[in-house]
Amino acid sequence: MGIIAVIFQLSLLAWTMYQIYVRFRGTQAERILRGLIIFVPILLLCYVLKLSIITKIFEIFSQTFIVGLIVIFAPEFRRVLIQLGGEFNLLNYTEGSKGLDSIQKSNHEIIEALQLLQKSKKGALIIIEKAKAERYYINPGFVINSDVSKELLVTIFSDKSPLHDGAVIVRGSKIAFAAVILPMTENPKLDWQYGTRHRAAIGFSEVTDAMCFVVSEETGDISIAIKGKLKRYDDFESIEDTLNRFYSQSSAKRHRRARFFHYMSSIFNQYLHQKK
Ligand code: ATP
Ligand code: MG
Repeated sequence: MGIIAVIFQLSLLAWTMYQIYVRFRGTQAERILRGLIIFVPILLLCYVLKLSIITKIFEIFSQTFIVGLIVIFAPEFRRVLIQLGGEFNLLNYTEGSKGLDSIQKSNHEIIEALQLLQKSKKGALIIIEKAKAERYYINPGFVINSDVSKELLVTIFSDKSPLHDGAVIVRGSKIAFAAVILPMTENPKLDWQYGTRHRAAIGFSEVTDAMCFVVSEETGDISIAIKGKLKRYDDFESIEDTLNRFYSQSSAKRHRRARFFHYMSSIFNQYLHQKK
């Protein structure tokens, strides 16, 4: 085998591992992946030096190890697959008779609600779902199924409302649920000062492709969690930008790609069910 072929294969392997690492960053799987990345060159060295006992042991355990990893990190794998194809379900919301116009109107209502909630320092957690993700709710809360409006959002999050605890779930131009309890992140690197509301936003964005708005009751700060990363925003223009961008990535090419990854995700699910 020519040296160029070896370099090509190693570069491809390194690139693939880096891509996988980037997508799993911020999750529990990150630490394991880091361990593996360190492990790979050691193993390659063992092969090159023909240390046959070590490589034989590795060969015996590697298959079970990989299946074990897939089963343990099933939620992370699903997240990556769903993220890669996240736009697919969104199209179901935007293709309806009202289409993008109603989404834009609803986005505007959300921005105005965030302004009002910030002004009155009302804690809030608003989730914009791309793909339906009920299976990740810890508690499903209450069905609302009503058009998004700033009045309804502010009412839900006012102190006296029985629905003010937990998250509101927005799907397209509808508020689907309120008072939903979400899974909290277990990221050990997160600053201690983030309380449960911020942890729930980050946690939900780790396992789904949703966009999660948090208004802090303590500071009035507005943050957005996407893919396990929380970012604080100071101006409403960039919040609206981020929200609109979240909806605007749906070209035909993306649609096809999304279909493919959702197909992969369902095959992965079937595989897991067989394993159980
Ligand atoms: P704040 O800056 O608003 O104080 P915080 O991140 O410090 O936010 P807490 O003070 O712990 O968070 O906020 C408590 C509120 O967060 C609860 O009253 C509830 O409404 C919401 N909350 C807590 N845990 C969850 C959860 N798992 N899912 C959804 N909402 C939650
Ligand atoms: Mg708090």
